Amino acid sequence: MLVRKKGEPAALYVDNTVLSSQSMCDTKTYIRHALHYDSKEEAGALKAGIAIHNVLERWFKGEHIDDALGALDDYLPWADAAHEKGLLHPRFAGPNVYAVCHAYMQSRDINRFPWITDPKKVEIAVVAQLTKDNICVCGHGRKKHSLGKDCSACACPEFTIVNFTGKLDLIGTLHETGHLIPIDHKSTGQINANFVRKYALDSQMSGYIWLAEQHVHLPIRQAFVNAIQLNDLPKSDRKCTTHSVPYAECSEQHLVTQIIGPIIRTEEQLIEWRRAALSLSKEVRDLIYEAEADWMPTEIRQQGTFNGSCGFCSLGEYCRSNRPPARKALVPYKWNPGGVVVED
Ligand code: SF4
Ligand SMILES: [Zn+2]
Ligand SMILES: [Zn+2]
Ligand SMILES: [Zn+2]
Repeated sequence: MLVRKKGEPAALYVDNTVLSSQSMCDTKTYIRHALHYDSKEEAGALKAGIAIHNVLERWFKGEHIDDALGALDDYLPWADAAHEKGLLHPRFAGPNVYAVCHAYMQSRDINRFPWITDPKKVEIAVVAQLTKDNICVCGHGRKKHSLGKDCSACACPEFTIVNFTGKLDLIGTLHETGHLIPIDHKSTGQINANFVRKYALDSQMSGYIWLAEQHVHLPIRQAFVNAIQLNDLPKSDRKCTTHSVPYAECSEQHLVTQIIGPIIRTEEQLIEWRRAALSLSKEVRDLIYEAEADWMPTEIRQQGTFNGSCGFCSLGEYCRSNRPPARKALVPYKWNPGGVVVED
């Protein structure tokens, strides 16, 4: 999202979702983050993820389970309607999301995590400037941009700063050392070795740690992932061999969760994360320009077809049908960077 305010430099807002999309494929970024459309399936996953976050936010703030579940009040009717139209994967169905949230809070004791939870440090929206002061996303300073809008040293059309945004789910205090540590809630289809390994180096955690550091103004070098498996919990009449009752009765006991971490980042890793984030940001900014100039999706590159991203991309079907105009083939996608509301 590119925000222009009178008397201020243009400000590009990005989060890890945008930059990670850009590292895969121009078309993916163009459709989702420049034109703001997406396929139906991804919209469901996104909504369910946000709904679960909202429940956990209330619970970690100290609300009772029943009150925390009230955070699903918007999601449930939406999910019912989507389900009736046959648009929703069963794991995102209202009763299933409700059961997963309920099971999580029932089975967890808020006092028995590796950290101490402070209800005042829950769901913290952070916006921090990624570009150095007086440096444009193109890497050149004010002087090169001073004569007009264009940069005299490169093809950059407008002095643009980059704000990296995100929502920190929780900042806890480690029992052992007293260090502050950010915790990220993640719902995923399956918690497995790949899922755990992914976070060892993933930009998500680097960005998360960097944002936490900007927020508390202290060095932070580690984080936890609080992972919740959002699969379709078993609920048939068949007898469960583990619990010796029909699955319908032990359904919630089949919830899978895991605390992953501490996930460590060195200072060098954070410096490199920032460099890569800036270079991807510039590419995103350029795609937004192309959207403003009404480029057709078919004019945008599809690097995803080279790097294996298409298999996991919500736009697979769209691209297989040769990228028709987005408004005809897709649903509007309101990207809210990390839950941080910025003015359009
Ligand atoms: S399906 Fe492939 S080519 Fe199309 S947007 Fe996704 S990654 Fe890019
Ligand atoms: Zn520039
Ligand atoms: Zn420049
Ligand atoms: Zn069982």
